[in-house]
Amino acid sequence: MSTGWTTPAPDALRATAQPRVAELDPRSTPGFIGDKKTGQLLTAQRATVLADLQEMLYANGRSGDRRSVLLVLQGMDTAGKGGVVKHVVGAVDPQGVSHTSFGVPTEEERSHHYLWRIRKALPRPGQLGVFDRSHYEDVLVVRVHNLVPPSVWEPRYDEINAFERELVEGGTTLVKVAMVISPAEQKVRLAERLTQPDKYWKYNPRDLDERALWPEYQAAYQAVLERTDTDLAPWYVVPSDRKWYTRLAVTELLIAALQSLDLRWPPADFDVEVEQQRVAALTDPTS
Ligand code: AMP
Ligand code: MG
Repeated sequence: MSTGWTTPAPDALRATAQPRVAELDPRSTPGFIGDKKTGQLLTAQRATVLADLQEMLYANGRSGDRRSVLLVLQGMDTAGKGGVVKHVVGAVDPQGVSHTSFGVPTEEERSHHYLWRIRKALPRPGQLGVFDRSHYEDVLVVRVHNLVPPSVWEPRYDEINAFERELVEGGTTLVKVAMVISPAEQKVRLAERLTQPDKYWKYNPRDLDERALWPEYQAAYQAVLERTDTDLAPWYVVPSDRKWYTRLAVTELLIAALQSLDLRWPPADFDVEVEQQRVAALTDPTS
C-alpha cells in the first residue's frame, strides 16, 4: 500500500463504508493520514503508475482485448469534476482517453431515451472513458426539478442497474465517483470564479439556483447511492473540500480498477529475434 494510506482507497471510499451524504464531512480524508504536501507528492508519483497501466490497457485494446474502464464523475457545481479530468485523467496518454461531459440534453437528445446519448459515448475497447456527469443526472437534476413525473424517474434506478450490468458483462469496469463538497466550500469556489476574467467561463448564474436546492440534491444523491451501488458497479463517495485529497483518491481508485484487470503487455505478433536482426542490418535508404 502507498505511504499515507491506512486503508486502501476503494475500501475507505466505498459508499457502504461512508456516512450518509448529509452527515459526511467533506473535509475528511478517508483512509489517508498524510497532509496536503504528502498527498500532492504521492499523487504525482502515482500518476506515473496510472499512466503505465492505462497505456497497457490501450496496448491490449489494440491487440483485440475488449475491456475498457469508465470513470463516472458526479457532484454539485464546483465539486471539482473538471479538476479531476484536468489533473488526474490529464496525466495519461490522451490517445487512450474518451471524455464526454453531459449537459442539458439537446433537442435531439431529448427526442431519444435518456440512455441514448450515454451509449453513444461509451469507451471503446482499450479506452479509459470519462463521464463528467452522466446518466445519473436523469435521477438527480431531473428528480430535484420534477422534469418528469416520479412514475418516469422512479423506474430508472433499476434500469440503470440493468444497463450497468450489461456494460460490465461487456468488459467495462465502472468507477463511479460521487464528489461531495460543503456549501461553505462551494461559496468560496463560486466567489473565486468571479475574481478573475480567466475564471468567468466557469461561472454560471444558474448554479445559485441549484445551490438553493441543496437538501433536495442531498436526498437525490442518497437515493442514488442506496439504489445503484452494486458490487458489479460500485459507488465511491469522495469528500471533496480538499482538492488535493480528491485528486489523490481518484488516482488511487483508477489504479485499483486497472490493476484488477491483471493486464500484461501484449506479446509481439511477429518474431522479435528476426525483426531485431532485420533492424540491425538496416542501411540508409537515401544513400
Ligand atoms: P456543467 O457541468 O457546469 O457544464 O453543467 C451542466 C448542466 O447540465 C448541469 O446543471 C446539469 O444538471 C445539467 N444536466 C445534465 N444532464 C441533464 C439532464 N439529463 N437533464 C437536465 N439537465 C441536465
Ligand atoms: Mg457548472
